[in-house]
Amino acid sequence: MTYETDRVPLTASDIVAANKRHKKIFNDRLNSIIREAFMHKFQKQMAEFDVEPMKEAPKPCPFCGATDLIVTEISNHHAVICYDHCQAEGPWMDTEEEAVEAWNRREEST
Ligand SMILES: [Zn+2]
Repeated sequence: MTYETDRVPLTASDIVAANKRHKKIFNDRLNSIIREAFMHKFQKQMAEFDVEPMKEAPKPCPFCGATDLIVTEISNHHAVICYDHCQAEGPWMDTEEEAVEAWNRREEST
């Protein structure tokens, strides 16, 4: 990546080009922040997984039978998702435990 520090953009196309460069730098930076945040969250989840196994495990996916389901969290809402297979999604709940319970209740009612 090159920076033109010794040159002031003088024409409209110079300014457009400079803005595009800055936007690209901004997007690259933003992407890496999002990636870092995701990895941090993921590692935190894995660490918690090691010390404290889930009280109740999600039952196999009622749609495709997969057993490697994940419990995800977005903005303090939790849900079981058949992420690697049919993408089935359980109800969004306040805690992981409630999300797993809700998922398992639905499995029984189908
Ligand atoms: Zn599934």
